[in-house]
Amino acid sequence: MKTDIDRKLRDFIGAKTAKSFSEVLGIETVGELLRHYPRRYLKKGELTPFDELEVGDQATVSGRVKKVTVRSLDSKQEIRPEDVQKFRRHKTITKVVVTDGRNDLELAFFNQPWLANKLTAGTAALFWGEVTMFRDIMQLKGPGTEILDEEDLSEEEIERRAKPFRPLYPASAKLPTATIERSIKIVLDNLEDIDDPIPELILRKEKLIGLREALQKVHLPETEKDWEIAQKRFRFEEALVMQTILAQRRAVTDALKAIPRERTKGGLLDEFDQRLPFKLTDGQTEICDEVFADIARSHPMHRLLQGEVGSGKTVVALRAMLSVVDAGGQAVLLAPTEVLATQHHKTLTKMLGELAEQGMLGGADQATRVGLLTGSLNAAARRTAMLDAASGAAGIVVGTHALLEDKVQFADLGLVVVDEQHRFGVEQRAALSQKSGDATPHVLVMTATPIPRTVAMTVFGDLAVSTLTELPAGRSPIMSSVVPAKERPAWLERAWQRIREEVAKGHQAYVVCPRIGDDVKNAGDEEGEFAAGAEDEAGPGTKSKPRPAISVLQVAEVLEQVLGDLRVEILHGRLPADEKDSVMSRFAAGEVDVLIATTVIEVGVDVPNASTMVIMDADRFGISQLHQLRGRVGRGKVPGLCLLVTDTYPTSPSRARLDAVAATSDGFELSRIDLENRREGDVLGVAQSGRRSSLKLLSVLRDEEIILTARHVANSLISVDAELAEYPVLRSFVRSALESEATDYLEKT
Ligand code: ADP
Ligand code: MG
Repeated sequence: MKTDIDRKLRDFIGAKTAKSFSEVLGIETVGELLRHYPRRYLKKGELTPFDELEVGDQATVSGRVKKVTVRSLDSKQEIRPEDVQKFRRHKTITKVVVTDGRNDLELAFFNQPWLANKLTAGTAALFWGEVTMFRDIMQLKGPGTEILDEEDLSEEEIERRAKPFRPLYPASAKLPTATIERSIKIVLDNLEDIDDPIPELILRKEKLIGLREALQKVHLPETEKDWEIAQKRFRFEEALVMQTILAQRRAVTDALKAIPRERTKGGLLDEFDQRLPFKLTDGQTEICDEVFADIARSHPMHRLLQGEVGSGKTVVALRAMLSVVDAGGQAVLLAPTEVLATQHHKTLTKMLGELAEQGMLGGADQATRVGLLTGSLNAAARRTAMLDAASGAAGIVVGTHALLEDKVQFADLGLVVVDEQHRFGVEQRAALSQKSGDATPHVLVMTATPIPRTVAMTVFGDLAVSTLTELPAGRSPIMSSVVPAKERPAWLERAWQRIREEVAKGHQAYVVCPRIGDDVKNAGDEEGEFAAGAEDEAGPGTKSKPRPAISVLQVAEVLEQVLGDLRVEILHGRLPADEKDSVMSRFAAGEVDVLIATTVIEVGVDVPNASTMVIMDADRFGISQLHQLRGRVGRGKVPGLCLLVTDTYPTSPSRARLDAVAATSDGFELSRIDLENRREGDVLGVAQSGRRSSLKLLSVLRDEEIILTARHVANSLISVDAELAEYPVLRSFVRSALESEATDYLEKT
């Protein structure tokens, strides 16, 4: 369906401006322009003639500059306009005298000497701020300024710009907010039809305003109330489109069939339970039972298992997999990295013992095999693994995305376990589904990053969520502290000393760095999530660029000096696979004392003897990443110690983040802090990929109520009209949301 909003912008505004919109903002159509919402609104005082100004007023004036003087507040000297740049960092006062033709008014600006070159004599501008009295002279102190071009000087234009409530758009020098505002007004004045994706009936029921009115109110508001009710409507619209997509998906998945995998007695699972060296926690037992019930249905399970690092998710997954194997099916465990896949393979094999030695001497009667399939296997190993998967000899196959290749076949794939979901997309899941014939495998997704209810609901639709809240008994606590390397260099020395002491006690340590360092120019080298802002390192007001993050190779050089007598190795993503394996196995076997690594060790790595972790430039990592990382220590009987080394300024936001991590080891609490600090896009995982989100005004954290209502509405629409035949506008919004890459976040299941 083509509507007015699909029309090209250049049909409405000048070709040159239309080109700027396309180049600067990627806006081509009228519809896209109208959805370029104001970033915020500027509140000004009313436009007031000079002779009606009163002290204490918030006022806006329009005038022409008569005279400018800049003075240094230290030397009291006057500074010539050509010298003002030199006084950028000095205390200065800039006095500007403006006239409305009859009266003069003085403006005072502090520490902005460069204004002298902007507000030159003769410049016309609007100024707004509080009217004050200084030594008997009426002044505007530090007013806001908008310079007017000669063509802006019509009374009408000045009135418009001086409006007390004005939108400010995400803009740039090439496309200033005033141009955006003007273009939107032209478009709104000339558009005849604007089709509303929200059905009339729902507008009335939910007490929302229609699209045209909402556009008018969001772009050309008269009062604060205007944009509030406009925003409410747009939030609902975004929620409705999103929930409609999810409802349609649900309708599709509801129709999917899965093979029921009934729990059988006396099989591998029972054998395994008997050998388990520990007692399952109540949470583990409960969630396993939920999973057993799910996979015994003829409808595919789609469950998210969230649980703190070390809460024992793997056992839950393994028991589910064994239950499927007992029922004659196969299970796959997908890991995000090779290191982790290899680790999982080892862990499972070890936990299963002779239960995984099918066909081998000493294997148990009903034993199965655990296959490993990663990208870097040699041809022979790969062939064996693929044969085992295809023949069904391997009841369990562990692997990375290599498992998703077309060539890999299964005899009867019944369950897919995905570890750390955020690295896997829906396409991958679909690829695996195709490997199990007509039936869809059951899916269990595990994550250590807790997801708030609304996000789970928004992003994952109908995903059922299970949460492991308790840690297995006997877990040692992790102590964390921040090491401010700049303020206290001795503390960093002490950190290395601590490693030495731990090693002397027979323990091991990790040193984690944000960067590999083998190629400084390579931008993708940074493995930390956060590039430090200059202010974080050097304190407020600093503009210099932050230094590059410290690298594995740099730290290796330092430790060569400091801990040269210990067995130190490095591990990062660009080492050859066999070298990675070898380093990891030697570390696991206790043959390496200190491992200097990137975040490749972030998830899953399980070496109970490792007691200490030093994280270098810890500020370059996100909260949940740090929490994940430190979960690598304190996994055994040995208490864990995590030192967060940073050069950040004590009052910087980055330092606050580190202090929060040091202060609590509650993953859910940290996740909440993290979400509050992040922008919405980051929550949904879109910001990382740099894509535009179709959620512009809706916040999945804040707008729970709106989302719930929209979900309800979407469900009832879809239940009677799955194809949205009655609602063509909504249908086309849904389609374009699906087409735009912005729905990427929906694919993150
Ligand atoms: P995560 O949830 O981080 O994946 P794991 O499954 O790797 O946690 O479990 C961490 C460690 O705790 C493993 O060594 C595992 O064998 C052990 N573990 C799991 N469940 C229990 C339990 N109920 N009692 C004692 N130890 C357990
Ligand atoms: Mg795990």
